[in-house]
Amino acid sequence: MFEYAPAPESRDVVDIQPSYGLFVNGEWVDSLGGERHKTINPASEEVLAEFSYAVEADVDRAVTAARKAYDSVWSRLPGRERAKYLFRIARIIQERARELAVLESLDNGKPIRESRDVDLPLVAAHFFYYAGWADKLRYAGFGRGDGLGAEPRPLGVAAQIIPWNFPLLMLAWKIAPALACGNTVVLKPAETTPLTALAFAEICRQADLPPGVVNIVTGAGETGRALVEHPDVNKVAFTGSTEVGRMIARTVAGTRKKVTLELGGKAANIVFDDAALDQAVEGIVNGIFFNQGHVCCAGSRLLVQESVETELLDALKRRLSTLRLGDPLDKNTDIGAINSAAQLDKIRSLSDAGEQEGAERWSAPCPIPDKGFWFPPTLFTGVAQSHRIAREEIFGPVLSVLTFRTPAEAVEKANNSPYGLSAGVWTEKGSRILWMADKLRAGVVWANTFNRFDPTSPFGGYKESGYGREGGRHGLEAYLDV
Ligand code: NAP
Ligand code: MG
Repeated sequence: MFEYAPAPESRDVVDIQPSYGLFVNGEWVDSLGGERHKTINPASEEVLAEFSYAVEADVDRAVTAARKAYDSVWSRLPGRERAKYLFRIARIIQERARELAVLESLDNGKPIRESRDVDLPLVAAHFFYYAGWADKLRYAGFGRGDGLGAEPRPLGVAAQIIPWNFPLLMLAWKIAPALACGNTVVLKPAETTPLTALAFAEICRQADLPPGVVNIVTGAGETGRALVEHPDVNKVAFTGSTEVGRMIARTVAGTRKKVTLELGGKAANIVFDDAALDQAVEGIVNGIFFNQGHVCCAGSRLLVQESVETELLDALKRRLSTLRLGDPLDKNTDIGAINSAAQLDKIRSLSDAGEQEGAERWSAPCPIPDKGFWFPPTLFTGVAQSHRIAREEIFGPVLSVLTFRTPAEAVEKANNSPYGLSAGVWTEKGSRILWMADKLRAGVVWANTFNRFDPTSPFGGYKESGYGREGGRHGLEAYLDV
């Protein structure tokens, strides 16, 4: 095997302040609560910065600022004017892409290759895409019901809560369509990854976005709860766990707030015996080891046709043995750090449960750094559908392998899950792809590929994976009064 010399990306391009306030009404303000927390680099446990924990009164200030900006400026601007701001934000993101990618990798632990080549291009693409919609909303098919060509109305103030796995990308998925439709926003990033959202606040200033159109309140679950419960919020958009999603659905039930929930997943990646196996191996690796498996739509259950199981698993283990785990800022790194100690505990305990329930564990033989949070790429064979590792979302680099004999059995096993976010099908037969896609209860079905994203394509779940769609023309509906 080739040895690779280190190829570190420089962190000099980022300028992290020692301490951050909240971004309210276009200004940096101190929290009225005063409590501060630290965000760390999960690859080294080094403290990166301190940030504020917004309390209820802070959330109230932010919602008030968003309301004022909505009434006095943003909802009155014609779409073509809103579009100019979104285009400006998109271009600034492109100009600052390298800095934002390094900042994301530092705060989150993901490999720079992914933040640079996947997250950041998609973030900019989302703003460009929705900028294009801002002056064409009347043609999107979501009119007021009084005839084609009626200008659909925005909802008002959107409360947006995002997780830590794709911090800036989830921000883009939320903020770009909300602003394009004429809403104003209060966004809460996750506790372990606030830094790119705070950098985005600076980008809003750089783009001369009117004060109050975007407000960023950092904090933890309590901040999110206060935001969801605030009476002057018109729309709640949440991405995160099914457990918290349920609580949010309960809170908004009986109010006039609209809600979209993007929750967990346990996707089946289904490989038929006629598939191009080398290509399937790459797709499996991308499906579950991309972003350390911290992906809601990860292909965490491999369903392989029995006749090719041995051949496929041998090839997969060979491939996994070549993955390089380590410094996220090294451009050769494939597997970065687990985002937090708490997430590492969860991955460990579910993996241990897999062994206790009788599945067989195999981990890639890679050295683990002394500092930071790490988990080697791992797969389990001999997995039964009743095992916890086949049912629960692990949200880490752990693959559960099951087998099937017939297409009907593959469909039945794939759909035997409380979730329904995504699925993958590997076969050379087009007719089989269509037959499978028709039967799989999943929001996205990838064929001979996996984890492909595009701002023009809608994304969202069935069953306990949530409701509502983000992305594409469909993603506008969640932010319009229709
Ligand atoms: P999480 O615990 O549900 O947290 C998500 C966000 O909600 C965080 O900002 C969190 O704040 C906040 N929050 C926590 N408790 C809250 C409450 N009571 N009220 C309001 N907000 C609250 O999920 P996570 O562990 O960070 O993220 C992983 C999950 O996200 C996985 O299940 C994954 O599948 C899902 N996900 C889904 C998608 C999708 O599009 N479907 C995309 C990515 C991730 P703090 O973190 O600061 O506590
Ligand atoms: Mg962090």
